[in-house]
Amino acid sequence: MPAEIISGKELGNELRQEMKKEVDQLKNSGLTPHLTVIIVGDNPASRSYVRGKEKASDTVGISSEVIELPSSVTEEELLGLIDQKNRDASVHGILVQLPLPEQIREENIIVAIDPAKDVDGFHPINIGRMMTGQDALLPCTPYGIITMLKSRNIPIEGKHAVVIGRSNIVGKPVGQLLLAENATVTYCHSKTDKLTDYTKSADILIAAAGRANMINKEHLKEGAVVIDVGINRMEDGSLTGDVDFESAKEIASYITPVPRGVGPMTITMLLKNTIQAAKGLANS
Ligand code: NDP
Repeated sequence: MPAEIISGKELGNELRQEMKKEVDQLKNSGLTPHLTVIIVGDNPASRSYVRGKEKASDTVGISSEVIELPSSVTEEELLGLIDQKNRDASVHGILVQLPLPEQIREENIIVAIDPAKDVDGFHPINIGRMMTGQDALLPCTPYGIITMLKSRNIPIEGKHAVVIGRSNIVGKPVGQLLLAENATVTYCHSKTDKLTDYTKSADILIAAAGRANMINKEHLKEGAVVIDVGINRMEDGSLTGDVDFESAKEIASYITPVPRGVGPMTITMLLKNTIQAAKGLANS
C-alpha cells in the first residue's frame, strides 16, 4: 500500500487558523504579537523566505516589520540594531535571516538576541533549555517535524529514529526532540560509514542532508515513516527533497513531500513561537 502523505501545507493551514483565533483574543486583550525580521543583503532565496514569513504573519494577524540592511553593514551596526529591538517592549520576536555576509559572525548575532525573543530557537540558552526538558522557544524546523508526527499519532516512543544530518538548526535538535519523546536516536552524517545499514533499520527516518534524492526505497525498511527536510534546487529550477518521493512512497507508511512538506511547517512554528514569545511563556 502506498504511503500516506503528510502535507505540511494542509496541517500548517489548519494550525494557522487556530493561531488566528488566539491572536484575535490576544489583540482583544490589548496584546498584538509583533515580529521583527532583519535581512542583510540581497540573497534571492533569503528574500523569498522573508517574504513568506511576512505573508504568513499577516494571515494570522501577527504584526511584522522587515528591516533591510545593505550587505556592507558591519557586525557592530547589526548588533546595535538587535540591542535596540531587544529593549523595545513592543517587539516580541526577533529573527535575523541567515546566511549573513562573511564580515559578520553568525554565532555573535545569534547570542545577541534576547532568548525570550529568539523565535528561531537558535540561541544556546533555548537549545540548552530544550536539551534539559525546560520551557524553551524550539527551533522551528524540528518543532514542525515533531508536530507533523504527532498530528498523525505516529508512535515515537521505543522507535528507532535515524537522523541524516547534524546541523545545529535541523539535525541535532530534531534528534533531541525525538529523544525527549523516548525514541532511540541515531545520527548519521557525511562521515557515516555504510549509511544504508542505519537507514534500513529506521522506523522514523529524518533526511536533512541537502543531497537531492539520496534516499530511495532501497534505503528503507518496510513501513518506515519518512520525513524529508531537504530543499534542493534542480537545474530545471524545480525543488526536490533528499528523498526520491516516488520510489520511497512505495514502501514507507507515511511520507512528507517537497515542496509543501516540512517547509510550510517551519514557518508555521515560527508564528507559534512568536505568539508564545508575546505571551512570555518562554520566561516562565
Ligand atoms: P547543513 O549543510 O548545515 O547540514 C547538512 C548535514 O548533512 C551535515 O551534518 C552533513 O554532514 C550531512 N550530510 C551531507 N551530505 C551527506 C551524505 N551524503 N550522507 C550523510 N550525511 C550527509 O544543512 P541544514 O541542516 O541547514 O539543512 C539540511 C537540508 O534541509 C538542506 O537541504 C536545507 O535546504 C534544508 N532545510 C529545510 C528547511 C525546511 O524548512 N524544510 C529548513 C532548514 C533547512 P557533516 O556534518 O559531516 O558535514
